[in-house]
Amino acid sequence: MSIQLFPFNLSFQFALSAFPYLLPPLASLTLSRHFPAILPTEINMEQPLALYRRFLWEDNHILVIYTAGLAKLRASQALYNAAYDISEAFFSAEAQRGLEDLIVAATLATESQVLRDAWGWTVRLPFKDWGIFCAVEPDGRVCGRLKPLSPQAADDVVGALAVQRMNEKSPLRQSTLIPRDEQPHLLVEQYFDESEQLPARIAISHDDAVMFLSMPDAHWDAVNALNEDALLDLARTLLSDTTDDVPKQSESPQDTAHAETIDRLRKQFKAVRSGDALSKNGLKFMHEAVFYYDCRCDTAQMEAMLATLPQHDQEALWADTTTLTIECPRCGRKHDIHR
Ligand SMILES: [Zn+2]
Repeated sequence: MSIQLFPFNLSFQFALSAFPYLLPPLASLTLSRHFPAILPTEINMEQPLALYRRFLWEDNHILVIYTAGLAKLRASQALYNAAYDISEAFFSAEAQRGLEDLIVAATLATESQVLRDAWGWTVRLPFKDWGIFCAVEPDGRVCGRLKPLSPQAADDVVGALAVQRMNEKSPLRQSTLIPRDEQPHLLVEQYFDESEQLPARIAISHDDAVMFLSMPDAHWDAVNALNEDALLDLARTLLSDTTDDVPKQSESPQDTAHAETIDRLRKQFKAVRSGDALSKNGLKFMHEAVFYYDCRCDTAQMEAMLATLPQHDQEALWADTTTLTIECPRCGRKHDIHR
């Protein structure tokens, strides 16, 4: 028997009110306590790691978050999905593109923040019979999942966007918005505009991506009217005099990651010591981090989720079987539980 559970952290009441079409049969679960937001963990060095960097564009009071590592992010996703036999091929190209873009935008959003949160993005677009969930962990792990919805979902004219954030110091914060666009990365912009009151622009190409995020008193005209190609061109130009610091996108990251890290750190310390941390183009380096595709699910978590079901539901599930297959709601990995 195969079971699908609802993406973590969405309480039953919230799920009912915001996502009537996302509800699977066994949705009466509050899963968050089985997914502690912050887990001590080390980066898996076997993974292709996508480097993201955050700068302050000082004159304009705008943060610039940039990555040229999208090939690595996709590579780590392909490795993960192949390892656990996960496929999104059932979904339309539009849906798959939506998931891809939401993953990129969600990682950019994570790197835009000084305090690292665990983020959950749940998107249901108008007139679509599929939804998207994407989670980013403070340690840089990101995963996502397309969800088939009931046919009535395709009649819904409104859709919904839910954003959840949590960290060690503050409880779960949740925003629910009505999507104003059909492209998921523009919904991430919308979240910053409406929930954070800090306008953002995001642009994604095949290879690289940028997020501009306004700070108080930002000169937002510098980016506000630009289309996505122009936003990317601007980012590449602004970063052009920092290219010495950008690690080469090597074929085998684990071979060179260490040397690259040493080289980059050396240059940054040198820049800071010489008071030259501001680039010629006015960018001040602030932070860098790596992101890679991974999910923290395991069989024990799935067993714990199952245990939250009412006893009679559990009995019904086990009625004629000794093995249950539970699909992780965050990544789609299947976990077998034996009675
Ligand atoms: Zn998972």
